[in-house]
Amino acid sequence: MSLQASTEMLQAAREGKYAVAAFNVHTLEMLQAVAEAAAETQSPLIIQSTVGTVNHLGPDYIAAAAAVAAKRTGTPVALHLDHCTDYDLIVRCIRAGYTSVMIDASMYPFEENVARTAQVMAAAAAAGVNVEAELGKVGGVEDDIVVDERDALLADPDECAAFMARTGVHTLAPAIGTAHGIYKGTPNIDFARIARIADLVSAPLVLHGGSGIPADQVRQAVSLGMAKMNIATELRIAFSDAIKQVFGRLPDENDPRKYMVPAKEAVKRLAMEKMELCGCVGKAANIVNR
Ligand SMILES: [Zn+2]
Repeated sequence: MSLQASTEMLQAAREGKYAVAAFNVHTLEMLQAVAEAAAETQSPLIIQSTVGTVNHLGPDYIAAAAAVAAKRTGTPVALHLDHCTDYDLIVRCIRAGYTSVMIDASMYPFEENVARTAQVMAAAAAAGVNVEAELGKVGGVEDDIVVDERDALLADPDECAAFMARTGVHTLAPAIGTAHGIYKGTPNIDFARIARIADLVSAPLVLHGGSGIPADQVRQAVSLGMAKMNIATELRIAFSDAIKQVFGRLPDENDPRKYMVPAKEAVKRLAMEKMELCGCVGKAANIVNR
C-alpha cells in the first residue's frame, strides 16, 4: 500500500473506541521497528517525526523510508509531522510526501490559532493531507504548575467546538493534563474534560504525552474519544538503553549492526505493547474494508 492520510484510520478508531499508536522515530531502524510491529500485529500505524528530526534527516529521506514501510507492511500507514509552527516547513513536508501534519499555533490567542490552522487546511486540502491542531497547552514535565494556572492551560470544551466549526480541522489535540516527557508522579488527566470535549467534537481527538501514562488511564482516555496516542520519549529511551547495554558489555564494539539490531528489537517490542494498549491490534482490516 501507499502512504495514506491518517484521517480515515483515525475516524475508524474513534468510532471503534480504540486509538492508533503514533510513534516518533529518529532513525531508519526506529522506523523499521514500528513498521514491523504494525505488520506483525496487523495494526494501522502513524509514523511521526518532529521538526528537529525533519531538519536532521531531511523530509525527503523520511518520506521515502516511510513509503517503503507502507508498501512492506501491507497495513494502513500514515506519515505525520508533529508539532510544527512553521507554515513553510509544513508545505515542504507535504511536497516531500507527508500525509498528515500538525500545525501547533496553540501558543497564540484563539483567533490567531484559527487563522494559522485555516491557512494550513487550505494548503493540505489539495494534497488530501490530514491536519491536526492543538488547543490549550500540553505541559512539559519540568513545568511546576499550580492548580489555578493549570485550569487556564487546559482546553476549553466550548472553544474546542468553536475551533472545529471555524477551521474544519480533521483531528484535534486538546490539552487535558498530559505532559511531554516522562512523568515524575502519576499524570493528572482531566477525564471529565475529555468527556465534555468529545461530546461537542465528533472528530478524532489526539492524546499527546503518551509516554508513561498508566495503562488504566490510557484505556479510560481512549474509551472517551482519544483516537490517536503519541509516543515519543519512551521509544527513545528503549532505543538508547539497548545501545548502552551493548557498550556496557562490549565497550570496544565498532560494528553499528551489533548495537543497532538490539536497539531496533527493543523499539519493536515496545511498539507492539503500545499497540496492544491502544486496542489497535488487528484493526488494519477495519480501514481497508471501510
Ligand atoms: Zn505533543
